[in-house]
Amino acid sequence: MSRRLTFAAMSVLALSAALIPATAATAAPAPTGVVVRASVPNFPGILKAGSHGAAVTAVQKGLLAHGYKISGLTLASSRTKFGVLGTATMATIMRYKKAHDLGPSPAVGPKTYASITGWKANTGGSSSGGGSTSTGGGTTARCGSFTGRTCKTTATSGRFCPTIGAYLGDGFGANRGDHSHQGIDLMTTMGRPIYAVEGGVVAGAKMQSNGALAITIKGKSGAVWYYGHQSKNLVSDGDTVKAGQLIGRAGDTGAPGAVHLHFEYRPGSPGDAWYHASAVDPVPLIKKLCF
Ligand SMILES: [Zn+2]
Repeated sequence: MSRRLTFAAMSVLALSAALIPATAATAAPAPTGVVVRASVPNFPGILKAGSHGAAVTAVQKGLLAHGYKISGLTLASSRTKFGVLGTATMATIMRYKKAHDLGPSPAVGPKTYASITGWKANTGGSSSGGGSTSTGGGTTARCGSFTGRTCKTTATSGRFCPTIGAYLGDGFGANRGDHSHQGIDLMTTMGRPIYAVEGGVVAGAKMQSNGALAITIKGKSGAVWYYGHQSKNLVSDGDTVKAGQLIGRAGDTGAPGAVHLHFEYRPGSPGDAWYHASAVDPVPLIKKLCF
């Protein structure tokens, strides 16, 4: 019943992604002779989580043409499925950039854009050339030399960032077919530490039927915190945890198609049964705690 608020969202997410095995998504040399240049728009500025439009479509088609798999998308997909930079596309961009030494972030700058799409900067000189304050979703907060990466390791009002070094992926409310995304995806790498945002009691630490490792923590404030897709859970049902305590390691259990922390924040109120708490967009909080 109400319990499924939390868990059904994860199952459906993982179920649809499971249709495309994560392992199939790694390799693939570029087939030769694939033309992706014909309709490549000029580079519009850094592309990142939530960016949309023709340039994103060009990136997606370029990746597919290079033989990379994007969960849920093929060159034969209808046009309406292209054009939004979400978690699945980001995961593929990260693989592509890693394989081509283009850096660790899922953002697409002019160099990556050119590499993927075959776009050539117009030497006439009016190209936007990599300004770091472009439009299109996501945060522009800086951590060291990285833009948009979580980096804050200290507490903010007693709460901690759930994982350091991650990028914002799919946002709250993203279309998941028969439901909307009840949390956000923090794109990260295998094994990265995951911390309790707030102290409280572990109300659930288990492997779901789809194979995803999940942790639900009932916080002292009455909030419910939900962490999903871990490679390892380091706490058990009934454990008391402190804010900032290491509770798990990032992973891709449940075959979501990309290593990430699925994170939900359900503020609730102290008197409520925990499973009645509704999810809210955690991005404002994440910005406070992590950037
Ligand atoms: Zn998610």
